[in-house]
Amino acid sequence: MYSCKEIAELISQSMDHQLTLRQKIGFYLHLSMCTFCVRHKKQMDFLKQLLDLNKKQPDVIHRSMTLSRTKKEEIKKCLRDHTHS
Ligand SMILES: [Zn+2]
Repeated sequence: MYSCKEIAELISQSMDHQLTLRQKIGFYLHLSMCTFCVRHKKQMDFLKQLLDLNKKQPDVIHRSMTLSRTKKEEIKKCLRDHTHS
């Protein structure tokens, strides 16, 4: 049985190459019981999608990155104001 740490390694491994059948079985067995790893896998899948999209449409990513940076500044400002008051 895999530990959460090993699952995290398998997730990053699976980005670059196919897992063996044995690894896949252990992987999905763990995922069926562990919500933490399911969440982690979802995040990694999302990142992978972003990377794939970046290859196909760099402009889209660039625009969304710029947007999120502005959002981050807004959040930072909010936090600053909040701590001051
Ligand atoms: Zn886990």
